Amino acid sequence: MIKDALATDAPADPVDPATAGPPLVVAHDVHKRFGHLEVLRGIDLEVRAGEVVVLLGPSGSGKSTFLRCINHLEQIDAGSIHVGGRLIGYRRSGSRVHHLRPREVTRQRRDIGMVFQHFNLFPHLTVLSNVMEAPVGVLRTPKAEARETALALLERVGLSDKASAYPRQLSGGQQQRVAIARALAMRPELMLFDEPTSALDPELVGEVLATMRDLARDGLTMLVVTHEIGFAKEVADRVVFMDGGRVLESGTPREVLDHPTHERTRAFLGRFL
Ligand code: ADP
Ligand code: MG
Repeated sequence: MIKDALATDAPADPVDPATAGPPLVVAHDVHKRFGHLEVLRGIDLEVRAGEVVVLLGPSGSGKSTFLRCINHLEQIDAGSIHVGGRLIGYRRSGSRVHHLRPREVTRQRRDIGMVFQHFNLFPHLTVLSNVMEAPVGVLRTPKAEARETALALLERVGLSDKASAYPRQLSGGQQQRVAIARALAMRPELMLFDEPTSALDPELVGEVLATMRDLARDGLTMLVVTHEIGFAKEVADRVVFMDGGRVLESGTPREVLDHPTHERTRAFLGRFL
């Protein structure tokens, strides 16, 4: 049973009319522990529709755990996460809160795309089949339609000419772009990226960041964990700095990256100068 999910029916934070869309993700006082280790200690974070939010912070600060909680790969201990107005992982009936059944979890996860550091493409499937797999297997999209969508997505990530290649024949940067196309094939309302360029050779980082920048320009809502400060400066609407399982500061890239108020943010950013 989680505590705060009981309190209100809808996310409570007021909408700032000056900014773009309504809140798509609303995390409120999220707590998560592994045994004695409290990894998330009350995370409040909001992502509005169409926004790109970059999540920064030292290793071990809880960034991956937080993304994994949004995408049902971990369960929170207290607080609440709403995506698109739906309470993630839980269901209310009257005043009681229950864990979602596996089928309901699967349904919620469909609307959230996730891209990891290691792309985990299916090695025995072609690029095209990798991108078609979930729409055909999960959404029961007719093959011809899934194929057409997949080809359009491969064009969007600049890989039209690799449709019939196998993952092992591609560079790491190309494989990661296929992984992005594969996530987009489910038409997610939200994309989560967990250090998508950290495993790549330096010369391949740029092509993946360029693809992500294009998606941002097309209005995709993105929550991105990355150490690419240049990307954050150029693409993020908001930057959130996490440390020790808490949000230490959050604001525009200019505020957080150029004029950090916390000593720990300054120390962290100092490593990238
Ligand atoms: P970050 O992504 O910011 O580097 P993580 O969310 O991966 O941080 O990890 C935060 C802390 O939680 C770390 O101390 C890590 O060792 C711990 N942790 C993460 N996942 C687990 C797990 N499944 N079991 C136990 N501890 C974990
Ligand atoms: Mg991590």
